[in-house]
Amino acid sequence: MARILIAEDEPGIASFLEKGFKAAGYTTLVVEDGRTAAHAARDADFDLVILDLGLPLMDGHEVLAEIRGRGERLPVIILTARSGVHDTVAGLEGGADDYVTKPFRFEELLARVKIRLRDQTSPGDANLITAGDIAMDVRTRKVSVGDRETELSAKEYAMLETFLRHPGQVLSRQQLLSHVWGYDFDPGSNVVDVYVGYLRRKLGKDRIETVRGMGYRLVVD
Ligand code: CA
Repeated sequence: MARILIAEDEPGIASFLEKGFKAAGYTTLVVEDGRTAAHAARDADFDLVILDLGLPLMDGHEVLAEIRGRGERLPVIILTARSGVHDTVAGLEGGADDYVTKPFRFEELLARVKIRLRDQTSPGDANLITAGDIAMDVRTRKVSVGDRETELSAKEYAMLETFLRHPGQVLSRQQLLSHVWGYDFDPGSNVVDVYVGYLRRKLGKDRIETVRGMGYRLVVD
């Protein structure tokens, strides 16, 4: 399985990333400063780097410059604050493969990681996720049920994506909250139930099953 180097100095975000990637089956190493990140990217055998830009000792741009300076094709996805448009542009010009703005949803980052890792191996259609007759194109963000296309809001889309990535599996409210609303959520909120209702209205009432005391499950035939 692919090995991911996570360079992030905020412990909450680092552990959120680590848990998510481990759950998705990846091997991870978290480093908290830029100098260690640059060393680890050189000395260890990683398949991809998640690189926060604001890091102690060496910032993300310098780390990226060092990795690219060695002529390495190692895929790098940068994490950047929403306001940092300038940083994002500089990052892409510096040779980053992609970027994700904070706050971000784990599913979104994971989708981008998968695309980058697949770029290196087989061409396959990394952009299409399907379960039964539900299909989602993560690049165009189009969703169809059978031959009917359906319009989803950003959160509805994120929730459906989470279900599609775990077909037939029961997802707890807590899991859906952290996947869809990110690390920045109120655990007492009932948004999950509200959005399951919205999705049922758009996909069909029986598509998402309530599993009492546990959560919700996407019904796939
Ligand atoms: Ca930081």
